[in-house]
Amino acid sequence: MTIGINCGHTASGPGYGAVGIIKESEHTRLVGQALMGLLRSAGVAVVDCTIDSSDTQNEYLAAAVALANRQDLDWFISIHFNASKTHAGHGVEVYTYEGRQYQDALDVCANLEGLGFANRGVKAGSGLYVIRKTKAKSMLIEVCFCDNQEDVSLYQGIGVQGIAGAIYKGIYKEVVLPSVQFPAAEKHDPTREEFIEFVGNIAQRDWIERRLVLPSVVTAQAIKESGFGTSELAVNANALFGIKQNGWTGRVYVKDAVEQNVDGSYRTDKNVLWRAYDSWEQSILDHNTYLSERKIGNQTEPNWKNVIGCGDYILAVQYLQNAQLPYATSKTYEESLIRDYIEKYNLAQYDPVGDEMAPDGYLWVVQAGAYKSLDNAKVLQRGLEKMGVISLIKKYAEQM
Ligand SMILES: [Zn+2]
Repeated sequence: MTIGINCGHTASGPGYGAVGIIKESEHTRLVGQALMGLLRSAGVAVVDCTIDSSDTQNEYLAAAVALANRQDLDWFISIHFNASKTHAGHGVEVYTYEGRQYQDALDVCANLEGLGFANRGVKAGSGLYVIRKTKAKSMLIEVCFCDNQEDVSLYQGIGVQGIAGAIYKGIYKEVVLPSVQFPAAEKHDPTREEFIEFVGNIAQRDWIERRLVLPSVVTAQAIKESGFGTSELAVNANALFGIKQNGWTGRVYVKDAVEQNVDGSYRTDKNVLWRAYDSWEQSILDHNTYLSERKIGNQTEPNWKNVIGCGDYILAVQYLQNAQLPYATSKTYEESLIRDYIEKYNLAQYDPVGDEMAPDGYLWVVQAGAYKSLDNAKVLQRGLEKMGVISLIKKYAEQM
């Protein structure tokens, strides 16, 4: 997907935008840049079609269109702010070629209406140069009126990120899937027992393979965070844990986040990007990878390194919370995870028992083959190498 974004008008001189209570040219750039950021972080190729200066208004328009037409775009979007003679005009409107009622354009209007702006609808903008001359489907968004006090107050209250998020949700549908696909092997309306068994088995298999997070702990977190697979993220994004985008290059899901402040009060962060998955299984595996790799700030070692490989659930849960950045802000998280989940549902049944450690000075060695011919031994060694396994050839006495 490739989207061209034009932050409307030049930054100064000919082509400069309307000046109301706020300056159009400044805010088309703030909203446009935020929108480009959201799209890029979702993996969308963005072409910046903004022109900062030009000798004439017409030259500015032609330059923006030339940038847009240089490649095939799925959408060309020009961001603007409206103004009216009486300063009474208010609300959002979107212009398209011949007023085509594209679903994306209708959604942009509806999403901004959802934030409190009057919805003036999708209108014919065929007279507008950038709509008429761009090859791609195009829309020109008049976010609100920059000379109307009510609109400006509303706009400033919501903030640039919130406005950009509303536009983003209108044009980038992959992030909010209408019907979520998941593998047929996964039952997404399980009973509690089925859910526990599903997560427990995957967590156990991953523990045996990668030894990252103890299965009882992973399963308890999945139940607590997803409500046995019923949360919005579990249903719409196949995500059993609420992990924010942080470095994730896969699909994302947009949802507000309720966060606790240091003083204990709560706030809502609008339009936060969350990791979205192809399956619940992928979500479980990514949760373990995330805990084993995540570094905060300038940490040189992963924040939850003590959790990794820890075979005791009481210690592992303590390490989750005693890390430099605790896993959860809730003071009762540790106790609740152990008492209300791990012990209540006997999740330790998925933890390994009886792993036998070799005594001091001994190692368990994996034997792959024994040959009379050194050449035959090397054939096996090369075969293993192709599978990424480095092996040693040693000569042993036949009676071992
Ligand atoms: Zn304008």
